[in-house]
Amino acid sequence: MECLPRSRPSLPQKRILPPSPRSEGSATPLEATRHILVVRTDLEGRFTYANRAYLEYMGLERLPLGDFALDQVEPADRPRVAEVVQQALARPGEAFWVEFGKPRPGVAWSRSRWEFVAVCDPAGRPVELQCSGYDISDEYRQDCFRQEMTDLLAATLTTGAGNPPVALLRRVLEAALRIVPAAQAGSVTLRGPDGRFHFVAAEGYDLEALSRVSLDPAEPLSLSRHIQARIFGAEDLARFNARIDPQRRAVLEGVGKAGRIQAMLSVPVVVRGEVRAYLYLDHFGRADAFDALDLRHAEVLAYHLALVLEKEDLHQRAEHLRRHDPQTGLANLALLLETLLAPRSAGGRALLALRLPDLERLEELYGPQWRVTVVQTVGRRILEGVRLGDLLAWDGRRFWLLLDGVDEPREALPVVERLRQSLAQPIPNLASPTTPPAVGIALASPQTPPEELLQQAEVALSQAAPGQAVFFEASLQQALLEEQWLVEALYRAISRRRPSAERGELRLYFQPVLELAGGRPVHLEALLRWRHPHRGLIPPGRFIPLAERQGWMAELGDWTIAQAAQASAAWGIPVAVNLSALQLGPGLPEAVAAHCREAGIGPQRLILEVTEGLALEPAAMGVLQALAERGHPLHLDDFGSGYSSLEQLTRLPIRAVKLGQGFLRDLGEDPLPNSPTARVLAAVRSLGEGLGLEVIVEGIETETQHRYLLAQGFRLGQGYWLGRPQSARKTARRLELLI
Ligand code: C2E
Ligand code: MG
Ligand code: MG
Repeated sequence: MECLPRSRPSLPQKRILPPSPRSEGSATPLEATRHILVVRTDLEGRFTYANRAYLEYMGLERLPLGDFALDQVEPADRPRVAEVVQQALARPGEAFWVEFGKPRPGVAWSRSRWEFVAVCDPAGRPVELQCSGYDISDEYRQDCFRQEMTDLLAATLTTGAGNPPVALLRRVLEAALRIVPAAQAGSVTLRGPDGRFHFVAAEGYDLEALSRVSLDPAEPLSLSRHIQARIFGAEDLARFNARIDPQRRAVLEGVGKAGRIQAMLSVPVVVRGEVRAYLYLDHFGRADAFDALDLRHAEVLAYHLALVLEKEDLHQRAEHLRRHDPQTGLANLALLLETLLAPRSAGGRALLALRLPDLERLEELYGPQWRVTVVQTVGRRILEGVRLGDLLAWDGRRFWLLLDGVDEPREALPVVERLRQSLAQPIPNLASPTTPPAVGIALASPQTPPEELLQQAEVALSQAAPGQAVFFEASLQQALLEEQWLVEALYRAISRRRPSAERGELRLYFQPVLELAGGRPVHLEALLRWRHPHRGLIPPGRFIPLAERQGWMAELGDWTIAQAAQASAAWGIPVAVNLSALQLGPGLPEAVAAHCREAGIGPQRLILEVTEGLALEPAAMGVLQALAERGHPLHLDDFGSGYSSLEQLTRLPIRAVKLGQGFLRDLGEDPLPNSPTARVLAAVRSLGEGLGLEVIVEGIETETQHRYLLAQGFRLGQGYWLGRPQSARKTARRLELLI
């Protein structure tokens, strides 16, 4: 930046002055003035008079009478001054203003502002030039300083994040050299990650050579531990340099010209209580070259440097937060994706998704802080078992481990084994996860898009049981896409379901449970159907587990119960609904009661079917107990297909067991009375009799089976042979015929 003199309006009054005394030092009122500089010259520009203030200002012992006054002007300013002199002479009596500096090189800036007036004799002829001026050096420096600071602030604010602050630090140094006039050279040192100060900017020195020298915080230049701007002299520097090793000293005294510096202004840059950098401004001429204003300005520049560094710190912090999990400090998905996207040389890599099955449960027991500590500890152990360049990320639920240089599945297995072993070690002072992690692994070529790789590892993980590692295969992907499609479609179906068993994509079908002798329907089982407009009928075995996983089952189940209660009321026959585990909350008995009240039926008309596994949880047992106490018959569905426990039959208030379809499948088309299945069937029948339970045989598909069961003394049955599940409309028609 260049500081331009401000233009002053010229004062066009005509002045005619008496001839002035021409002798040096004559006692005139002008001699008494301390701040107004007065000079007179003849028409050629030679000194005829100068007051004491001028001589002092110029550092002259005596007036160089007869010398050209222009010699006392800074050479660069001379043409302009000469031009103004010509203007003044051309228009006598008018005042012309000009600013210029002193011709002394290497000292503090000087600037004075002058009024030139050509004075005429009584005849109106110009006889001399009268010049009065005053020192504006400080004002001029302040102006320069303000302008530089404004430019610097603008540059700092507009320099985008991520730019190295070194560029800005250099800019501050350049500004410092313009602002501080006595600064003939300068440098900036910055504390690096190694804790030492490194030269990062230099003016008047060979930066490349200097950057080979780094200074310990307890070493020269920073040695005095000054925390404000300070001026050091040549002896100080000599003393400092005498203490460092010869190699670095040679650089500092050679390219660093340390031996020639007469005055050095050193300003520490303090960011949040820590010295992070130093700004050095050097002068080679005089020990007293810097003045108080220089110190003040240099300090302000150091504040600015601190601002630049602080801005960079904040940027670094924000960048770190953007790429790391704030609680655990581990990398997050953003960093993982960035790493996956970054260009790299050829070679495969593997992405592992790791789930700790115990984490959720233990967090409930011990609280969220426990989780953070466990995740951090597990994270550390994982990192100990992998190579330095491998990346571990945590997304709040699972770990992601990116292994470099893995081209084949078997190359990832030793890592998995190491992880399994290290994670099996107990975590000191904490309840450790005891279930081994489940791992999903996907292999990536450089062409695999990152999102796809993540999805593949996730799909593999979804198939991995605790302690297992599953590799991704394309067929898994297909299943996943299908599942995603179904989830979305089901969401739409559930949110658009109608208050009727008949309309909408979701509806109830009804299948009768009949007396095997005579075929009288004793009740109906309500079975949920989803008819997708394009896909047709989607079986409940497919979509109910989905609804359960998505947490929609309580809502869907509630709707089913309401429809079943309405159907029972309409047809005057009990209706059985299947309950899912996720419906067995404490609010269920009251919700069921409300639907029965609304439909106007008693509790015995709404039968509830539960499967074996579902009744095992103590909380669920309590809910079933409450439902039974309110008068709802409980039927145990699919008996014998899972891990039936006879104990369960006695602990639950069950009215009937439904024999799973597997029995009839095993029995075959033409049942042999002495086959093992036939004997189990007979045993279950007598067990039911013994416990006072009804036994309903499911899955009767043929007449032979029907007859056989009848002959074996079974009373109730359900199956395609006896009646397929049908829509409400068809069921109503069937009932009219049957009842
Ligand atoms: P489930 O409760 O054991 O229902 C009997 C299943 O057997 C029904 O299948 C029915 O159509 C089928 N079935 C009936 N007779 C025969 C036969 O002779 N042979 C053969 N092979 N199958 C027969 P669906 O409707 O596909 O239902 C399957 C399962 O889905 C049900 O088994 C039940 O566990 C569940 N489910 C159905 N509706 C609901 C519901 O509203 N809520 C809940 N939570 N689960 C339901
Ligand atoms: Mg059932
Ligand atoms: Mg069943």
